[in-house]
Amino acid sequence: MWRATVLTLFPEMFPGPLGISLAGKALASNLWALDARDIRDAATDKHRSVDDTPAGGGPGMVLRADVLAAAIDAADIAPDRPRLLMSPRGAPLTQKKVTELAAGPGPLIVCGRFEGIDQRVIEARGLEEVSIGDYVLSGGEIAALALLDACVRLLPGVMGKLSSGTDESFSDGLLEYPQYTRPQEFEGRTIPDVLVSGDHARIAAWRQAEAEALTKARRPDLWTTKIAQNVAPRSRKDTTKG
Ligand code: SAH
Repeated sequence: MWRATVLTLFPEMFPGPLGISLAGKALASNLWALDARDIRDAATDKHRSVDDTPAGGGPGMVLRADVLAAAIDAADIAPDRPRLLMSPRGAPLTQKKVTELAAGPGPLIVCGRFEGIDQRVIEARGLEEVSIGDYVLSGGEIAALALLDACVRLLPGVMGKLSSGTDESFSDGLLEYPQYTRPQEFEGRTIPDVLVSGDHARIAAWRQAEAEALTKARRPDLWTTKIAQNVAPRSRKDTTKG
């Protein structure tokens, strides 16, 4: 079974929103498992302290390497499981990464707090830093929930037949085309004719064109990548010919 092990100072934040709807039903039916562990359980002194002031000075507190390492070791996870640290310094999370994580055995996820965690535990336990965007949260928990939500919906059986996955934003490097449903007319706006035409080829072509136009307008970065990927095989062929 796909399993997530989360190390946090606030285990009561889990499963949180992942306990309802799609992810919650899947959790209840053992399509995945969630193990939220309290980092504080690994503290050794009588105050159960987990943090200390930053070496070199500066504001805030830093999670101690020894406590966090003990918490990771106590979780005793299989060596093939990814070990992630939610961190604004990490590689930005992408649908590609989510797909890889969903296809694996399920990650261990460390949630930072305060100013972050001691660099030495990142190195000593081989933590891979993952960011959910260029902004700073107060803790890694909401980031971990976002990552897990994105993974869980891709697990076999979770979305059932809905398991589109393939038709969605980012799956083919494009944002998704606009969606409509009844009523046919809303405040004077109608559903585009092509979508009610029943002509599946025309519908597919319209959706493709809309997805491309949206991506070009809103995410030139994605569009550039998409173009480069499409062009690559052709330029290789050209090279062979030349
Ligand atoms: N001082 C740190 C920020 C610490 S924020 C810095 O400037 O990089 C506290 C914790 O919140 C982090 O350790 C991390 O676990 C989490 N966090 C904050 N922003 C995040 C983001 N964009 N993505 C993933 N985790 C984040």
